[in-house]
Amino acid sequence: MQEQKRVAIVGAGPSGIFAAQALLATPGIAVDVYDRLPTPFGLLRYGVAPDHTSIKGVGDALAKVFDSPAVRFMGLVEFGRDVTRGELLGAYDAVIYAAGSSEDAEMAVPGENLPGSEAARSFVAWYSGHPDASPFRLTGVRSVVTVGVGNVAVDVSRILCKTAAELTPTDMPDPVLDELRAHMARDVWMVGRRGPEHASFTTPELRELLTLPHIQPVIHDAVDQIDLSPLDRRQRANVEALKIAAERSVPDASMRLHLLFWHRPVEIEGRRRVSGVALERTTLDDDGRLIGTGEERTIECELVLRAIGYRGQPLTDVPFDKVRGIIPNVVGRVTDADGRVQPREYAVGWIKRGPTGVIGTNKRDAVETVTALLADLPDAPPVTLEPVDTMLRRRGITPSTYEDWIRIDAAESSLGSRSGRLRTKIATWPDLLEIARGHASTGGRSLRDR
Ligand code: NAP
Repeated sequence: MQEQKRVAIVGAGPSGIFAAQALLATPGIAVDVYDRLPTPFGLLRYGVAPDHTSIKGVGDALAKVFDSPAVRFMGLVEFGRDVTRGELLGAYDAVIYAAGSSEDAEMAVPGENLPGSEAARSFVAWYSGHPDASPFRLTGVRSVVTVGVGNVAVDVSRILCKTAAELTPTDMPDPVLDELRAHMARDVWMVGRRGPEHASFTTPELRELLTLPHIQPVIHDAVDQIDLSPLDRRQRANVEALKIAAERSVPDASMRLHLLFWHRPVEIEGRRRVSGVALERTTLDDDGRLIGTGEERTIECELVLRAIGYRGQPLTDVPFDKVRGIIPNVVGRVTDADGRVQPREYAVGWIKRGPTGVIGTNKRDAVETVTALLADLPDAPPVTLEPVDTMLRRRGITPSTYEDWIRIDAAESSLGSRSGRLRTKIATWPDLLEIARGHASTGGRSLRDR
């Protein structure tokens, strides 16, 4: 084995950092973690709901990985644009793709792309202060329909149901907080195409949503008639939570939270903007397949949030399974379409297995991939190209560093303290870049291009 092995990780979200952490357990490996953003932590920063501060504590553990001199954060470097697959493979002994699932699943119904019909991801990106997010305007929104009954649907519904006082301690950017504080939505719907027992939300998240003060839960299905005996623990607990919510009366409620199961959208209605969602009642056929019954109803609303799951996006030149939306792999070893292993290339996290599981799931997943990588590493041929940072510098691109991130982190804490908050997110590219860089260039591109 060469004296020091070098591994590149593409994506500084939880799965990429867990992979770096797993690699650190083996001495003699240097790790560079690339991200197109100047901020590490991926979905932990831009996906975990801002009111779930305890999960964000995982960030402290992930941050420790960057304390090691063997790990470098290489921000503001976009794979496929600033650096290619071939260049990484030439400069590193192994490459791990940790790019997550950055596209939205489609409902494929008419009206899906009408203004006012938005991917929940966009809503999450907005309230999480992602610099690429477009602002949401909630003026005139009285009723919101969230399609899907997973944890993302729970997150966006909860954020809409929370009061100004409940949202203030979060790290949401100030304009987001102002918009959410002022909104006048009075009905939030969550619509599941199968039954309450089939919903993919987890019970603690569901219970939290159903017990929000000032929210009247309205359960539109006869949950007390559901046979609990064939259900697993989570399903049973979910149905139990719904039963309790169905009995709950909140006399001073300011909003209603509706849960409607066994309905699927057949059309997003509206002329210039969304005015409602046409739903068809569903059932299961004898083979357990979901079918429509032909019975339709419409829920009037001004905003539809599609929380029906994510999909991976292909990385330039890297094999991709379009059907599953992942990089094809065998226990993390990247394969081509015919199942042939691509030497020295690995995948972790959602781009490896699809958008499932909680953050901790990615730790086990990263260990599996890194175990495969470490078994292959002694056979890796010596690297042939110059280090990527030298290559990038020649092109006028200076990656941002972990120290640059520390400056953003400090600036967010300081901004928050001005209004009595722990932190306020900085949410625009120009601001992030200005704080991150005293020294680094943007490769001649305008800040807005990044
Ligand atoms: P998800 O759990 O897969 O839920 C997707 C939902 O959309 C399901 O109810 C699904 O129904 C429904 N759906 C899919 N296609 C549909 C269609 N064409 N029409 C109508 N409904 C459709 O995905 P997610 O909520 O995006 O969450 C992704 C992952 O992140 C999950 O592992 C989740 O647990 C995790 N997450 C965790 C947290 C947390 O721990 N607090 C927070 C957010 C996200 P079917 O079941 O019938 O397909």
